[in-house]
Amino acid sequence: MKALLALNPLIWKYRGRLFLGMVFVVFTNMFAVWAPSMIGEGVNALNEANTHFLVPMAEGQSPTLDQLELPRTLAFLADTLGWAWQGLDAPTSRETVLDFVLWVGALQAVFYLLAFLVKGGFSFLTRQTIIVMSRLVEYDLKRDIYGHYQVLDSSFYKRHDTGDLMNRISEDVSHVRMYLGPAIMYSMNLVVLVALVVTVMLSIDPVLTLFALLPLPFMSLGIYFISANIHRKSDARQKAQSRVSSFVQQHIAGIRVLKSFNRERDAAERFDDETAAYKVRVLDLVKVEAMFMPLIVLLVGLSTILTIYVGGQRVVGGHLELGHIFQFVFYVNLLTWPFASIGWVTSLIQKASASQARINAFLDVLPDIASPDSAQGVGDIQGRISFQGVGLTYPDSGIRALEDISFELEPGQTLAVIGRTGSGKSTLAQMVARLYDPTDGDVQLDGTSLRDFPLKNLRASIGYVPQDVFLFSDSIRGNIAFGVNDATMAEIEQAAKDADVHENIAAFPEGYETLLGERGVNLSGGQKQRISIARAILKRPRILIFDDCLSAVDTETEANILGNLKRIMEGRTSLIVSHRV
Ligand code: ATP
Ligand code: MG
Repeated sequence: MKALLALNPLIWKYRGRLFLGMVFVVFTNMFAVWAPSMIGEGVNALNEANTHFLVPMAEGQSPTLDQLELPRTLAFLADTLGWAWQGLDAPTSRETVLDFVLWVGALQAVFYLLAFLVKGGFSFLTRQTIIVMSRLVEYDLKRDIYGHYQVLDSSFYKRHDTGDLMNRISEDVSHVRMYLGPAIMYSMNLVVLVALVVTVMLSIDPVLTLFALLPLPFMSLGIYFISANIHRKSDARQKAQSRVSSFVQQHIAGIRVLKSFNRERDAAERFDDETAAYKVRVLDLVKVEAMFMPLIVLLVGLSTILTIYVGGQRVVGGHLELGHIFQFVFYVNLLTWPFASIGWVTSLIQKASASQARINAFLDVLPDIASPDSAQGVGDIQGRISFQGVGLTYPDSGIRALEDISFELEPGQTLAVIGRTGSGKSTLAQMVARLYDPTDGDVQLDGTSLRDFPLKNLRASIGYVPQDVFLFSDSIRGNIAFGVNDATMAEIEQAAKDADVHENIAAFPEGYETLLGERGVNLSGGQKQRISIARAILKRPRILIFDDCLSAVDTETEANILGNLKRIMEGRTSLIVSHRV
């Protein structure tokens, strides 16, 4: 439960809505409780008309209607509006009484409907305030979490798998929202409704109240156990389901490998196993879910039977009026969902607090790579890079990737890094962009240790072509302009020309607007590499890093690009990683 306290500032932020919501909850329930009394009073009036008038009349007496008690609501209206009983205080006929009874009944029914209409209106407003508040908090939480994702460094992402990180922002947040929305709303509803209903019930008949309410706590308890069980089982189902989806996702992504290795049969069998496991989980869940409604119906039924039986005896004993039994039956039904919701809400809150604890733990992770903010402009960076006895051991794998590397690179100079695979070239390139901090020694830019250099400025001055190309599901134009907010079309085309990919792009029917990615065009390895180069040089950065960026292009294209790069690298510090001399 403690974890949920972290939400209090957000709840406080939307306190106005929450408070309004509470007011609406009170109004909703006042009308909900008032409505059944229309039925009770209506029936009482009819019953009275029968026993005091119709029966005596049948026995030949002629009673007058003047002392007839009207239902409270009607009497109140009659008083305020100054209605009189003309025509009714005289000795009456059977027809007059029946007419009267009909009118009372009809009016009570109209009041009943009106009460529900108003109740519905308030319950709409309750949702509009409390549920909307939970959605707003959900939005804030998602924004915070995504913001935090972007702050964390690469070693964090090495430690966590993508699915788990996706869950924080989708599933965990939605559990928390269920606490803020429905859980808070139903809890408030329960408190107000029980207070109102029980007060009214006690004022009518304490003994009957006791019997009518007796089964309800058992219902709460039962629902709590069933809900907790349902949650456990639906977690298991959820896990089985994500195994199925990630299986399908992997095998669709790798469909070409799958087919060329003739593994369809084997894959189908493994898929069968996964779906069979999923089926078992689902059936498991359905069995428990199936007990939910019957339990409610059983206990409510029990409550209703007790109310009618005990109520009947009380009426016979003269402690209660007939109409009140009806009213009590309505109240029992009114209390059903709130009492059921105690169990449900309890397990919602447990789930939410587990989720919030995960979210808190995540938000508390601080990035290892952080930097002081600074007003220093990017333009001031010269691009003098120096490595001083740099060594790096990857924290998660313990692999010693670099050992005692030292060099000085003056602004405008180019460094070529050549070495065997796995020798640490990419690691070195990444350290210039400070994706990792050195374990030994120091990396400096313009004589300042990178640890003291504002990260924003550092990265703004670097154009990086990573070894494994990553392009976003966006247009080619969008991908090339990724690093620059206000690039003109001419600049984009120039960058593409320099990377020798302009002609390829122009050959697509939609040119620079061609969409890449899942539902777009698939580019060849060399085309992707060159777009990635164009993306880096469009930035016109002080420092250029090319990590094996020509591995997938033919020699002629390579010569073209190198020719262009010579011009572009003029005056910029460059670091070129390659296998080939
Ligand atoms: P190639 O020429 O194949 O690209 P490389 O010289 O670029 O190789 P690096 O990618 O720098 O080599 O890797 C150097 C060593 O560090 C390798 O042994 C690799 O397994 C390890 N390594 C690389 N990246 C990570 C990482 N993120 N976490 C842990 N170990 C890593
Ligand atoms: Mg590499």
